[in-house]
Formats: sequence, structure tokens, C-alpha cells
Amino acid sequence: MAKLLIMSSKNELAEEISNKVIGEYSKLKSVCKPATRPTGIKEWTILAGVVVINRSGGANNVEVLSVATGVKALPDSELQRSGGKLLHDCHAEILALRGANTVLLKHIKDYDPANGSDFIESNNEIPIRFNLKDDWELALYISRLPCGDASMDFLNDSCKNNEDFIKIEDNDAFQYVDPKVKTILRGRLNFHKKSVVRTKPGRYDSNITLSKSCSDKLSMKQISSILNSLNYELFEQPVYLKYIVIPDIEDKTKHILERSFHNRLPCDGHKVEFLNCHTPFYDDRTDENDIPSSMCSIKLFVNDSSTEEAIFNGMKNGFYTKSSKPLRKHCQSQVSRFAQWELFRQIRPKHKSMSYLHFKSQQKERNRLITTAKNALSPDGWISTRIDDVS
Ligand SMILES: [Zn+2]
Repeated sequence: MAKLLIMSSKNELAEEISNKVIGEYSKLKSVCKPATRPTGIKEWTILAGVVVINRSGGANNVEVLSVATGVKALPDSELQRSGGKLLHDCHAEILALRGANTVLLKHIKDYDPANGSDFIESNNEIPIRFNLKDDWELALYISRLPCGDASMDFLNDSCKNNEDFIKIEDNDAFQYVDPKVKTILRGRLNFHKKSVVRTKPGRYDSNITLSKSCSDKLSMKQISSILNSLNYELFEQPVYLKYIVIPDIEDKTKHILERSFHNRLPCDGHKVEFLNCHTPFYDDRTDENDIPSSMCSIKLFVNDSSTEEAIFNGMKNGFYTKSSKPLRKHCQSQVSRFAQWELFRQIRPKHKSMSYLHFKSQQKERNRLITTAKNALSPDGWISTRIDDVS
């Protein structure tokens, strides 16, 4: 009986999270949403959102931190001119987590010890550090299974490219980014293979992105936490995701998610729990002729104010220039590495003369956790994206 009660309250929680995230999505400006092309072809996208949940309950126990949409990732070659300004990976769940990190930085920057904050509190250290308050938890909503390992069993024919159907043997070199690293596969190639790291899916003949799939990135956060390197420095204790909410996951799907997320990693204590919700996301693909939207978006909620951005090719919509040209001033999103590093240096001015990557290299404990996760996911070695520093 007690177990049933817990289940039903978790189902209600999942439903409430999905309703809140979809509710915020519906208020986005139309430029941030998939459109119908003049030819009548309909675009689709994926929606994600990060929420904080107050365990003490009450009517307003779910607060949205960020919502994001997107199904795109930049080719590695595009990152050459980035200087921290381009978003490498615009899959909705990754953008939403970047958004939540910017929200946390903003809360900390404006933190007033006299008034406190809803869900974070400061300690007495000098310099001051923060914690998520005891009765708060974090959840991620995604309108679909994350790409990569956790969703390989559920690819339907319409979401595969032709090359995804090719019968591939383990010694066929073209499925690998680097043939010496047989535990990292390109996109959906050799899709029968389980428990491997995959790069973000894309056409085989397009410029390769080296961003890892959302299954891989989200799994790793069970070890390294959802805090980016900047918040990791500012928080006393890392913050982990308690739940991932996805519409229409049956028991079989839940087992596959758990295999991909729990069995691939030595994550004691921070295993994410998958919750099912019923309300489908209305701008997902509904017809095989629908095409993925090139526009991505992010909306952040800080106390009573919110800001939203449409994102195109990794930068704010309207700022795009060809790869051969330099980037335009102010093209960067508020969730870019560049913008987050700027915010962080306002909070901790002593890092003003340091570069972002130099700062990151000094984070011994976080780097150790990330290396542990990478070694577990890909024992043959890791293949990183291009270096993208902010000076
Ligand atoms: Zn993805």
C-alpha cells in the first residue's frame, strides 16, 4: 500500500513537471518554436526543462529554472572561431542544463544573505559557498528518450538515415571516429551495438560533430553532478539530478534506460530515477514527412523575471555569419561558456586574469570524477571536441 502511494505521488509529480515545462514552452515567442514551411512541411523539435522540487509539497512545489528546445549540434570544424561564444551542442536537454547553470550563477551573483533564496543557501566560509537547500530536489524533463545508447532500441525507420541500415561488422573502420577507440561510435552507425559511447547523430556525409550523445552526457552527470565547473567551485556540495521525466515510458523502456544509465557506470548513490508522464509534447514529430527544426531556443527563469533567446547555428538568432567570417559582437547566448565565465568572474573577481580552461584544469576533484566516468563509458580512450577557450 505504502509503495503504491509513493508510486502514485511520483506519477503526479511527473505529470506536474511535464505540465509546467510544456506550459512554459507554449508561452515562448513563435520564432523559438518549430514552424510550418511555405511548402506546407511541418517542423518538429524536442523540448526539455530543468525544475526544482520542494519535497515539503504544497501547491507550488515545482519551480521551472529553464526550458529549451533543439535537435542540432555544431560540426567540430565550426568551433575554430568560437572563443567560448558558440554553443557546441544544442540538443534540448543539454541546453536546458546549461540554462540551469546560468540560472544558478545569476542567483549566486544577486544573492543577498539577508533575504536568502528559495532553494539555495550560503554557508559561513570565506569566500562564501552555496548549497541546494535540504528539502529541494532537481529534475529534468525531456519530451523524448535521450539520443545515443538509451534510445537505440527504439529507433523507428523514419528517424534513421540510409547509412544507419548498413550491416556493419565490428572491424569496419568507418563506424569509428578513431579506429583505435572501438568504444566510441559515430552517431547511429552499427545501431545494434549496446553500451558504447556515440557522437551526436547526423548524416555520415556531413561534417562530423564530436559532441557525445545525450545518453552519454546525462549518464556522466550521475558522477560529476549537473554543476558546470563554475558552479562546482561555488557550491559546497555537488548537485545531482534526482529524476528524469519522459512521456510514455513503459517498463521495458525503463529497464533499457536503467541499463544505459546505471549499469555502465560506477555511480553509488546518485543514480537518476526515471519517471513516466502521460501528456505528450505537441510539437514532436507526428508525421514521417515532418523535418527537424533548425531553430533552437532557451528560456531562463530567475525569481520573477525571465529571458528567452532563439538560437541558430550555436549563436543568438539574427547574428549568424558564414564560417569563413569572424563572429559578430554580442552573438553569444547567455548560456554560452563566454557569458557564464563573465558572470563567474563577477562573482569571483580573483579569476579575472585567468582563462576559462586554465581555471577548469585546476579543478582536481571534478576532473577526477569526469575521468572516472569517461574511463567507465569508453575503456578504449576518449575523443574530445576541439579546444574552445575564453581568455
Ligand atoms: Zn540528444
